[in-house]
Amino acid sequence: MDFSITDEQRMLRDSIVKFAQGELNDNVIERDRDHVFSHELWRKCAQIGIQGLPVAEEYGGIGADALTCAMALEALGYGCRDGGLVFSLCAHLLACVVPMWRHGNEAQKARYLRGLCDGSLVGAHAITEPGSGSDTFAMRTRAERSGAGWRIHGTKTFISNAPVADVAIVFAVTDPAKGFHGGITAFVVDRDMPGFTRGQKMEKLGLRTSQIGELVLEDVIVPEDAVLGSVGGGAAVFSTAMDWERVLLVAAHLGTMQRLLETSVTYARTRTQFGQQIGKFQAVAHKISDMKVQLEAGRLLVYQSAWRLEHARSAALDASIAKLFVSESLVKTALDTVQLHGGYGFMVEFEVERALRDAIGATIYSGTSEMQRSIIARWLGL
Ligand SMILES: Cc1cc2nc3c(=O)[nH]c(=O)nc-3n(C[C@H](O)[C@H](O)[C@H](O)COP(=O)(O)OP(=O)(O)OC[C@H]3O[C@@H](n4cnc5c(N)ncnc54)[C@H](O)[C@@H]3O)c2cc1C
Repeated sequence: MDFSITDEQRMLRDSIVKFAQGELNDNVIERDRDHVFSHELWRKCAQIGIQGLPVAEEYGGIGADALTCAMALEALGYGCRDGGLVFSLCAHLLACVVPMWRHGNEAQKARYLRGLCDGSLVGAHAITEPGSGSDTFAMRTRAERSGAGWRIHGTKTFISNAPVADVAIVFAVTDPAKGFHGGITAFVVDRDMPGFTRGQKMEKLGLRTSQIGELVLEDVIVPEDAVLGSVGGGAAVFSTAMDWERVLLVAAHLGTMQRLLETSVTYARTRTQFGQQIGKFQAVAHKISDMKVQLEAGRLLVYQSAWRLEHARSAALDASIAKLFVSESLVKTALDTVQLHGGYGFMVEFEVERALRDAIGATIYSGTSEMQRSIIARWLGL
């Protein structure tokens, strides 16, 4: 494994940082307060290739390998202080675009990928339901054969981008007797299909510029070519989405951690109490040292996992380890950043309370920390 950065990767990383710092951070406090998703910023991000990072150029992407994607998303997380926007982009890219690119047939790719990459479409990935989160196979959404296609019925919840989504990958049970492997199918459902509604929008603790909500399917009839992958092959589509999301979403978190580290160092060097910089107090300095250690360790885990996404038979174990470590490190880094900013850290204006609110979801979405530990334990034969 060679993680030395090529000139191309450095140029991509630098250009994304510059773009994000210059174009994506205006009015972020107000947008967060008002829960505003910006279609304008979405389109700007598409212009520099974020939504199509790994997708081949023939479908409108820029054809970056997974490690380069990790570096690019890390740069985005570093330069963009709008955590919700970064999260929305990652949900779209990693859980909708990537499975479409990896499992879609030529007709599906021709129909959706270009729009998903060029910023004209917003994508979502819908598996969670009111009664089934970690226990995905408890899902009640059913798809039954109907004429030449399928009839889908059910409700999905906590779906990132749902209120603004144009297309969603929706998972439904097609053969209850077969269980998760063989019994679930992924469908591509368009916003305009009769019976498909974007349901109720939800308010949340953090990541407020990313919209989240329900998707309701009331006897939605989809054609046979709405099946993504194969009938009964939903688990494979879900695994692809989770492997990429667990590795590359936390790559963006590394960028946030780097920014919080730099903010903390600057504050610890400039804020004085008891006649000296607070960074001279061991209790403060050690917090910052731990941030640095977690960032460097997290980066190695993410880069290694990203490399394995394309070079190993399975990256699932690496993905769970990286997701668990970086998400928990992000929460700790954000909490420590607030703590060492004292009262100022608690104030909206300083923008570290938002980083903490944005961080909290990281140990829940894309599989909770408890589920990542269980996956790791299973790989160890427990
Ligand atoms: C910001 C955000 C964005 C999201 N985006 C999407 C999206 O785009 N698409 C989508 O489909 N879903 C999305 N989700 C849903 C997310 O995947 C689920 O919330 C998550 O999988 C947990 O499911 P749950 O909320 O039902 O919690 P539950 O599964 O009910 O878990 C509750 C608690 O019990 C623990 N627990 C459950 N089972 C076990 C077990 N076997 N062993 C140990 N502990 C266990 C959990 O770890 C958790 O602490 C999103 C969630 C959030 C917060």
